[in-house]
Parts: sequence; C-alpha cells; structure tokens
Amino acid sequence: MADYNVIVIGAGPGGYVAAIRCAQLGLKTACVDNWVGTDGKSALGGTCLNVGCIPSKALLDSSHHYYHLQKHAADHGIQHQGLSIDVAIMQARKEKIVKTLTQGIGSLFKKNKITHLPGLGRLVGTTEVEVIGDGNKVDIFTTDYIIIATGAVPTTLTAAPVDNQSIVDSTGALAFNQVPKTLGVIGAGAIGLELGSVWNRLGSKVTILEALPDFLALADRKIADAAFKELKKQGLDIHLGATLTSTTLSSEGTVTVTYQDKTGEQSLVVDKLIVAVGRKPNTDSLNATAVGVKINQRGFIEVNEHRQTAVANIYAIGDVIGGPMLAHKASEEGVMVAERIAGQHSEMSYQTVPWVIYTYPEVAWVGQTEEQLKAAGIEYKIGQFPFAASGRARAHGDTNGMIRVIAEAKTDRILGVHIFGISASELIAEAVLAMEFEGSAEDLARTIHAHPTLAEAMHEAALGVDGRTIHA
Ligand code: FAD
Ligand code: NAD
Repeated sequence: MADYNVIVIGAGPGGYVAAIRCAQLGLKTACVDNWVGTDGKSALGGTCLNVGCIPSKALLDSSHHYYHLQKHAADHGIQHQGLSIDVAIMQARKEKIVKTLTQGIGSLFKKNKITHLPGLGRLVGTTEVEVIGDGNKVDIFTTDYIIIATGAVPTTLTAAPVDNQSIVDSTGALAFNQVPKTLGVIGAGAIGLELGSVWNRLGSKVTILEALPDFLALADRKIADAAFKELKKQGLDIHLGATLTSTTLSSEGTVTVTYQDKTGEQSLVVDKLIVAVGRKPNTDSLNATAVGVKINQRGFIEVNEHRQTAVANIYAIGDVIGGPMLAHKASEEGVMVAERIAGQHSEMSYQTVPWVIYTYPEVAWVGQTEEQLKAAGIEYKIGQFPFAASGRARAHGDTNGMIRVIAEAKTDRILGVHIFGISASELIAEAVLAMEFEGSAEDLARTIHAHPTLAEAMHEAALGVDGRTIHA
C-alpha cells in the first residue's frame, strides 16, 4: 500500500484547494510546498496569499482610503488637515492579513487531516515523490496519484534585470518601504495597473510602458477605452505601443529606461522600475519530463481537458498549465481533479471564468466581447447602462463607467457581460451565474433586484438588450 492516495505538489489556491477536496472525499492526502514567508517560516497559500491576490488587495484598499480622503472627503463635508501615509504601518497591516490567511490554511489542513510536507517536491517515479526539506533532509513517499500545482514565477526581461533595489518584480513592488517619487512600470496588465494604482494614489508619478497598441487587449473595447480614460485622469501616464530597449542604473540608484514608440526612441528616468510582463510556469526543479510528463514549447505542463498529464495518474492544475492565470481558475481545477480521482465525473466550464482588474473603479468581465463575436460572425444584441443613471452609484459618488450585457440575437442567450465601475468584482458574479445556467437577457430582466443597489444597473443593462431600459 502506498504512503498516500494523493500527493499534491504546491499549496497555492490550486494545490491547497485540491488537497482539501481530496481529503473531504476520504483520500489520504499530503501536500508538499516550499514557500518560505517573510518570517523565514514555511507558509502555505502560494503566490496568491503570500505575494499576489491578497497583499495586492490589502495595499489597494489602504491606498484607496488615502486617495479617497484626499480627493473626495470634502464632497461629503469631511474636513481633514495634515493627511499623511505611514508606509510602514500600511505594510505591517498587509503582512498581518497575509499571516492570518496563510496560517488559516494550516488550520484547514489540520482540520482535514492533510499532511503538510514542507520542502521541495520532485518526481522520482510515476508514484514516488521526493521531498527535500529542512537541512536538505531527503524523504521519498509513495502515492497512487500526484497533482502538480507548482504555479508560476515572474517573467524576466534581459533589458531590465531585477536587482530588488531599483528594478523590482511584483513581489518587490508590494514591499516598497517608502513611496517612490517617480515609478516606471513595464507592462499594463493586471499587475502593472493594480500596483501602478497603489503607488500613484500614494503620490508617485507613475509611467506605464505597454508594448501592445491596445489597452487591456482581452477586454471589451468600450470598457477598455473608458478604463483607459479614467486611469489617465487619475494620473497613470500609460504609453501604448512602447517597447523597452534598455535600462541603465545611476550611482544614486535611479533607472534610465529607454524605449521605442511610434515617434522614435524615448527615455525616462525613474526612482524605481517594476517589471510586470507576465508570469512563466514553475517546473524547473520538478523532474517532470523524466517520469513521462510532457511540457510544451512555452514551458507549460501538457494536460487533457480533465487536467490529466501524459502519465495517467499524474494531474496538473493552475498557473503551471497555462490558460487564465487566475486563482479561482486554479482552485476550480483543483476541485475537478480531486473529484475525478475519487471516481466522480466533474467538469469545469472555462467559458464562465470571470476576470477582474482591481483598479478604481474595477474592470470585470465574463464570456465573449463584442469584438470576438463580430470576428466569429455571431449576431448579437447589446444592452448598456451607465452608472451615472444609477441612484446607488450617485449616492456613493461613483458614477463612472457602465455595464454591457451581450446576448445572442436569435436566442437571447447571454454571451458576455462587461463592466467598468464601482464594485464590478462583486457585480460580475450575477452574470457568471446567469451564464452558468445558460440564462437569457430576459431571465436577468425578469429578475427582481433590490433598490437602491448597484446590481440594478445589471438589471437595466439586461432590459436594454431588448430596448426596454427604464432609467436611461
Ligand atoms: P501558486 O499560487 O503560484 O502556488 C504554487 C506553490 O507551489 C507555491 O507555494 C510554490 O512555492 C510551490 N512550489 C513550486 N514548485 C514547487 C516544488 N517543486 N515543490 C514544492 N513546492 C513547490 N489572481 C486572481 O485570480 N486574482 C487576483 O487578484 C490576483 N492578483 C495577483 C496579484 C499579483 C501581484 C500576482 C503576482 C498574482 C495575482 N494573481 C491573481 C494570480 C494568482 O496569484 C495565481 O493565478 C495563483 O496564485 C495560481 O495558483 P497556483 O496554485 O497555480 O500556483
Ligand atoms: P499580464 O499578462 O496581465 O500583462 C503583462 C503585460 O505586459 C501585457 O499587456 C504585455 O503586452 C506587456 N508586455 C510584455 N512584454 C513587454 C515588454 N517587453 N514591454 C512592455 N510591455 C510588455 O501579466 P502581469 O500583469 O504580469 O500578471 C501576471 C499574471 O498574474 C496574469 O496572468 C494575471 O492574470 C495574473 N494577475 C491577475 C490579477 C487579477 O486577477 N486581478 C492581478 C494580478 C495578476
């Protein structure tokens, strides 16, 4: 008999959720993870909890309070003097949130009787995992199934080597101990926009260089255009079609960034530079190919639709297999794989994975964009509702943006919902559910929404698909 039914390698949102679901299903489960927290101790939760989703949202919230007080408190009759930000306290708050949540995963492991194996996991056979732990102690465990959930790490650029002083990746940008006067960001993706927003709100002069000519290329064009205009207004100086050519460090630590845009060679001097140009799969130390697991040309582990690798009892989930590099996608894959290992027939609907960018206001979407439908020759109808016409958004003082509901012309089935506006990250859940149930715009339009709520804007946009919007 093997030591375990399942060994999960990696305890990010893919791996730890897979481990919990395996244990719930009665499988004897262990989870190997090599993350070490800022206190030097092993920390569960992977990128998401330690240096990703959670710490970035903690800083986004802190910086939002500061920005809001500065720019909008007076609208509410709130007076303040000598407003300032103590970055050390803000960072300590973030660390406390991270610690509480990562320790929480430890408690969940205990509750579910999952063995946590701290250390580096390596495949030494199709049913054997080697764990290199503290002091290079090596143990080998046997198992019936293996789930690889080793995530991803920041992509590097030779033209801008990270030195963790002047040039940093997302992890460094979450840990600045003072507000840089000037900040450059390479890449206007989710990280560039979110972390660029944090430091911009706290007073940095932020310049973002994006290689692509389109802003948020995956998003609906009208939503992306509205977001671009608003973020520029907030002070993010975003340059599209800007390709980095080189960086030079001065003796004082400032960075001269040279880039090419349609007008020729440009340069920019900044105190700090964030490199946020994507993430690459983390398979270096796994020894995966030696046991028959296949890795594609881009470095991602190859899997079938049920996340099974070329070796039948080895599965892979989350960032390490590519697709949307999102925590909730990794977790849902973890659940599907655990249930399939336990003999169930779970599936995952990739068409309804929601995307959110946590700027202010937020950008969120699910399903297809108008541009994708046009290109595919699918006939559609669109209902659109501006937050400016929402009573609740007015009461909040946040009237920026809109909701767009796109439905198939013939069947009225919802094909996509796109939001730029306050609480888009929460509002999108209704659209995901409607699409998951293969709902129509009429279904949303016939659903009673409480008044006054932001969700009424979704209702109005759905009514708009058939030209029946009431308040605009
Ligand atoms: P990870 O979370 O990367 O976890 C992998 C784990 O495996 C790590 O602990 C790693 O140390 C461990 N590991 C790797 N190799 C080995 C090995 N050989 N042995 C043992 N352990 C190993 N996504 C969202 O959905 N929403 C957000 O708001 C969001 N914000 C983000 C903000 C930032 C700054 C960053 C960087 C990412 C953000 N993401 C966000 C992306 C999200 O963090 C990832 O999609 C998610 O963490 C992927 O989960 P995972 O389980 O696949 O891998
Ligand atoms: P990204 O893929 O979202 O964006 C990277 C951007 O950098 C792209 O727009 C790309 O065109 C640009 N780029 C690439 N090379 C460049 C170059 N040499 N010069 C200028 N621009 C260049 O990647 P990211 O922002 O680094 O985020 C990494 C991953 O983490 C993403 O897959 C994202 O889904 C995930 N993430 C998600 C969230 C969220 O869900 N809110 C937040 C942060 C990160």
